[in-house]
Amino acid sequence: MSYNVENDRGHNAPCSNRDFDFFYRGLVDQRLLVQKCSDCGTLRSLPSPCCPHCRSFDWQEYPLSGKGVIHSYVIHYHPPLPGFTSPHPVVLADMEEGVRILAAMDGTPPESVTIGTAVTTEFVRRGDVAGLRFRLV
Ligand SMILES: [Zn+2]
Repeated sequence: MSYNVENDRGHNAPCSNRDFDFFYRGLVDQRLLVQKCSDCGTLRSLPSPCCPHCRSFDWQEYPLSGKGVIHSYVIHYHPPLPGFTSPHPVVLADMEEGVRILAAMDGTPPESVTIGTAVTTEFVRRGDVAGLRFRLV
């Protein structure tokens, strides 16, 4: 099944392939999904065709709680991105399930973002594109 969306500007749309489609379908349903290996149970993010632990190609969708802690971040200044204010933080968070998720924190002042701070997932729409961002807890 192919899942491909384009916003009104024709860009900033997520990629579509058999590894990532479930993730973007999850965002449409306001669920944050990662892959769980069907053989060893290892969670993985970013999506990939094969388990890095046991090399199995079998996996199932696994919903995350959306709760995490900031592992690292950058502040995005340029170029301007459709649907985002600038500058805005882009955060890599350690999720409570043990995987890392990368997402913008637009809507949060850059000076209030620090490593180790608790965040939660918020689902957003940018044009026709379903997305996520983190916000402070
Ligand atoms: Zn595995």
